[in-house]
Order: sequence, then structure tokens, then C-alpha cells
Amino acid sequence: MQYCLRCCYPANTRPHLIIDEMGVCASCRAFEQRASKDENYWNNKREELKKLLQEYKEKARKNGASYDCIIPVSGGKDSHYQTYLITQVYKMRPLLVAYNHGYNSRLGLRNINNLVNQFGCDLLRYNTNPKTARKLSLFMLSKVGDMTWHHHSGIYSFPFQTAVRYKVPLVIYGEDGGGYWQGMFNLDDQVEFTQKHRQEIAMRGFEPDDILNDAENKDITRADLAPFFFPPDEEIESVGVRGIYLSNYDQWNQIEHAELMIKKYGFQTYQSSEQTFNLHSSIDDLFEGTHNYLKYLKFGYSRCTDHASMEIRYQRMSREEAIEMIRKYEYLKRPKNLDLFLKFAGITEKEFLDKIDHLRDPQIWEKDSKGEWHQLDWVGNHIWDKGVEDARLPIKEKWRFMTSAPYQDPPVNYSYGEDEEIISL
Ligand SMILES: [Zn+2]
Repeated sequence: MQYCLRCCYPANTRPHLIIDEMGVCASCRAFEQRASKDENYWNNKREELKKLLQEYKEKARKNGASYDCIIPVSGGKDSHYQTYLITQVYKMRPLLVAYNHGYNSRLGLRNINNLVNQFGCDLLRYNTNPKTARKLSLFMLSKVGDMTWHHHSGIYSFPFQTAVRYKVPLVIYGEDGGGYWQGMFNLDDQVEFTQKHRQEIAMRGFEPDDILNDAENKDITRADLAPFFFPPDEEIESVGVRGIYLSNYDQWNQIEHAELMIKKYGFQTYQSSEQTFNLHSSIDDLFEGTHNYLKYLKFGYSRCTDHASMEIRYQRMSREEAIEMIRKYEYLKRPKNLDLFLKFAGITEKEFLDKIDHLRDPQIWEKDSKGEWHQLDWVGNHIWDKGVEDARLPIKEKWRFMTSAPYQDPPVNYSYGEDEEIISL
């Protein structure tokens, strides 16, 4: 397997990673371009955003809407930062819209409650019941090896249903994941939300109708899929709905966002995690560990590689330190979290593994004559690859992940992977 000579991304990084002739990946290049923008550029972008928000506030008024815009939220650090920016800096009155996947951690629920309280915003939350969540998880596990399809589909569909229903024409997402994490776009592309991107990336090619019409679907009904239908074009057009990403208008330094939200707005982090050194991310999803493990079983890398590679791009972590993190948290690690999912899903580990057998990337996994899978390569075998020194960026500051004070009510120090209870609502 070829690995980026700067970060730790393998060539099979999803979706569609390109590694250039210097051996540096598109994510690193996109980030380089982002980092090259000066203060003047960002001042102009902030001005642009201010005008755009004003324009959409007026459109909302004309539509007779009660809110200026919609912010899709999960309750995490990005939701806190988005809401902070829109309410405190730009003085807008948003409606927060959440899609509840049903797999809540206690800390995630505490944080979404904090978000609503801190910023005094109304929240509309669609709750999928656990029976439906289980059906969807098991179906999508077999289809695409992801039991969190409904998470992504919900957060990219339900806010648009809400925009149409409440006649609010602007939906404001945080980062453009495809550009920020995967380097699919450059900052200069100024990518906005599109249905195509939603369907291909967030929904892995599956619209609700595709599931209803699938021969292997035994029990998923139209009602189960209700929050995932995208409104018809004519409804979107009549309200004039547009979806934007704040990461196009803001430097989007997630570490700084998290620190500000911890210090000023009561955002809380895990105290430790079994899967990564980044304690700021993906706090709301109790099955994040299983979700990440599936990525590992399919492609031979996972979330810690994402986090460590991002630290390299920010020039806070060396590639060697990053590989040590991956060795510690990810390489050949089976998360304890899997047991919780298996219990919830009512399947054995063998059944779980069999479901995704056909999805293992043959570039990285090989099955022996006894039916055991072996990982053919990992970034740890590529520490000394030729060209690493040429691709290296100097370290600017030491990496750090601030944790919040432990939550006192109830007095629990949350540690990811040890939260044993699934909370549906
Ligand atoms: Zn890279």
C-alpha cells in the first residue's frame, strides 16, 4: 500500500484520495492551500459571510419565517462553535435542528442540553426509535459496512425538511468534510451543500427509496425512513433553500474552537478514550468505537489515523509521533465498544464480521486458507519511506488536547468505551 509521505493516509483513504508525484496526498495539499491564506483573506471572507447572513435574514422575513437560519447540530464542539459564531458574533437567531440517531452517550446528551442553555436557542430534535435504528444499522452493516448510515442521512436530510416546513432559506453546516478532511476540494472551490454530495458521500449512494426497493430489505418501512427523504426540488426552490459551510468563511481551527467552548461555554470532553488521543470529537455517538472499527476492518485504517494526520497538517505532530499514536490506539485494536453494539444488535461477533466480509479491501486484507484475515500493510511499515524528509513540514507548536473538568452531576469521569448504557432520547 502507498502511504502519504507527509501524513499517515493510505492510498485507499475514502473517498477517492489522490497522492501526487511528490508522494503527498490531496488532503495535505488542500490543507496547505488553506494555511497559505492570510488575515486579509479571512477578513474578506468574514465580511462576505456577514453580508450573506443579512441577505438571508431578510429572505427569511419575506418568507414569514420565525428564525433567521437553521444550524444542524449534534451537540459537539463544532455545534457549539457554529452556534457561538452565528448568535454571538453575527447576532442571528437560528433554529437548532438535531437528528437523534438513538445511540446517545450520557455526555453527548449533557452537551446538547448545554448548547441550548448556553446560547438560548430553540432546538428541534427528530428522534428515531431504537427498534428502527437497529433495523437500519443491521441493513446498512451488510450493504456498506456502516451501522451509522442513519446518523449521516439524518443530519443531511432532516434539516432541509425543516427548512422547507418553517420557510427558513439558509442551512449552516460547520466544516465541509470532503474538503477539510479528505481534500476532495480546495478552499478556493467554496463548496456548498449539494444533493449530489449528500447522496454520494453522506448516504453512501442510498436514498430512502433505494432501501424500500431493495430485494434484501425485509422489514424497513417508509415510516422508518421518514427523516431521510430530501424535499422535492419545487419545495426547496419555493423557499429558496441554500446550504453553506462555515469552514469556507472561518479559519476553522478545531482545537481552538474546542478550547474556547470548554473555557467559556461549558462544553465537556471525555477524560480518556480507547480509540484516539483526540478527546474533543464524536462525543454524542455511543457506537463511534464500532463505527471506527468497521472502517478499520474494511480499509486498514481508522479515526486515529484521521486525527493524527490532521495534527501533522497543523504542524503540531511529527509523522513519527503520529504513527506511535496509531500503533497505540488503532493498529489491530478491537474496541471494547463492539461488545455493547453486538448486545444491542443481537448478533454474534462472527455474524458481525461475516456481514462485512465482502467489503474488506483486498489491497490491505488477505484471507488465509483457514478463513482468517491478515492485514498486509500499515503506515508503521512506512516510517522510513524515501521522500518522507522532503515532504515534512516543520513543527510549529506541540500538539495538545484540552479536557474539560469532569462533569459533576452525576459525579462521573466519562471515559469513552466505558459508557455502558444506551440512551435513546
Ligand atoms: Zn497526506
